[in-house]
Amino acid sequence: MTLDDIKNEIEVAENIIVLTHENPDGDAIGSSLATYLVLKKMGKNVHVVNSIYPRTYNFLPHSDESLRESVLDKYDLAISLDCSDIKRLDDPSESFEKAKVKINIDHHSSNTMFGDYNFVDPVSPACCQILTMILEYWNIEIDKEVAACLLNGIITDTGGFRYEGVSPDTFEYVSKFLEKGVNLSKIYKQGMQTITRSRFEIRNLAASRVEFLEDGKIAYTYLTQKDMDDLGVLRSELDGIVENGRDVEGVEVSIFLYEIENGFKASLRSNDYVNVADVCLLFNGGGHIKAAGANLPYSLEESKERIVAAVKKAL
Ligand code: 5GP
Ligand code: MN
Repeated sequence: MTLDDIKNEIEVAENIIVLTHENPDGDAIGSSLATYLVLKKMGKNVHVVNSIYPRTYNFLPHSDESLRESVLDKYDLAISLDCSDIKRLDDPSESFEKAKVKINIDHHSSNTMFGDYNFVDPVSPACCQILTMILEYWNIEIDKEVAACLLNGIITDTGGFRYEGVSPDTFEYVSKFLEKGVNLSKIYKQGMQTITRSRFEIRNLAASRVEFLEDGKIAYTYLTQKDMDDLGVLRSELDGIVENGRDVEGVEVSIFLYEIENGFKASLRSNDYVNVADVCLLFNGGGHIKAAGANLPYSLEESKERIVAAVKKAL
């Protein structure tokens, strides 16, 4: 059984690095921080690395212990959380590849199984939910601090318990977190609702540019690097924009493009029947059926044309 093997590897390892995907969201931060806290409590020499740590999650316990880069040249064990593909791993020093043993824990159906041990459950709505199950299986105590991190990931990746994939287990785990004394309304507010003024302004800018295409089945908007620079917003602070388009009645797919180094990043969401992970796979991206992304190495005009054409075919 893989989980027992993973536990054995953790037990024999001394130096461990915990990693997650670039541009980390609430589930990435929650699952990596929770893993870090658990391993620290086990007495491991453990480092959690996020080259950019989003301010939104500063309220989580021990968030100040997240490092910008690796400390050791080689770790006994590397654990990747919530990351579907080694290319998306936020790991500037390539610590994952260099580690003696590599573990990959994730919930993306497009996971490429890049670890020595891969524990991937595409049915789970959040990596934090998988991690909760694993910790219970290992009989490791989930204390109040770990519970806060796990709850943050479950709340953010389920859009506040709204998305498909939320299961009886989700609420069973949340119920246990509450018994530990976790403050659900605080985490909900901090992780899901409160935004900075600059984020409010950039959301409005993106909203003001929304175009409805194909009889209103597609909502499209974009942001350039200049827009982000002008308002002082980081790429990791753009979440929520693509969801806005999806909330409009009649829209099946919401497309949001934002500028990156070599072109534009496409962020897609669907409502009912379009598999946006398949659409993104056409551009070497991936994700979930109703939430996916890809890199488009083109100008804004060409990126828009190509992604809209691919979505049209999938409608
Ligand atoms: P978001 O639109 O929030 O950035 O990403 C939505 C989902 O798609 C996430 O689960 C994310 O992991 C996945 N995703 C986004 N961009 C890419 C990409 O370039 N490649 C792959 N494989 N998955 C992506
Ligand atoms: Mn996730």
